[in-house]
Amino acid sequence: MVIEVVRIGQRLVRDDRVTTHVALVSRGFGAEKIYMTEINPEIKDTIEKINNTWGGNFKIEFIEKWKNVVKKKKEEGFKIVHLSMYGESINKAQEEIRAEKDLLVVVGAEKVPKEIYELADYNVGVGSQPHSEISALAILLDRIQNGIQFEKEFPNAKRKIIPTKKGKNVQVKETRD
Ligand code: SAM
Repeated sequence: MVIEVVRIGQRLVRDDRVTTHVALVSRGFGAEKIYMTEINPEIKDTIEKINNTWGGNFKIEFIEKWKNVVKKKKEEGFKIVHLSMYGESINKAQEEIRAEKDLLVVVGAEKVPKEIYELADYNVGVGSQPHSEISALAILLDRIQNGIQFEKEFPNAKRKIIPTKKGKNVQVKETRD
């Protein structure tokens, strides 16, 4: 299963920290790429630094129009999962979504255009209360991958954490510059 994420919508007050966290959750929870419409080059730098230290090849692409990405991915056979508090319960939808091949997960920033509800194959609510795109995304990615995303290797990491009950155990790979 290939999972990609797109964040759509405009914020009245730009919130780069939330945007960065949506990207970090996507990367840390097994997605391969994120598309976003908010352009702040620092976010790309942050993700590149994280990849450089902690490995993997997570990609971030800035886009003009979210709809073009959604339509292109649909043509490529991806199923579109739109996270919305108005959607069907994740508890009901998760089994069917797990059986899909490739997914494009859509999250909003503020109010999302109505059109996405029609374009989506699944409109999924993580509960029916408003919370956040960060939490909704994390829970969806965990439910559909059943935790195996945390077993994934991030190749070419300079640092690798060896999980430990107490303290910190970090393997540091020597590099010659
Ligand atoms: N009232 C806004 C709306 O009309 O969608 C809520 C925006 S919320 C700050 C930003 C995003 O978080 C939403 O677009 C959605 O993707 C996600 N989100 C928030 N609560 C959710 C929930 N209970 N279930 C699924 N997604 C949720």
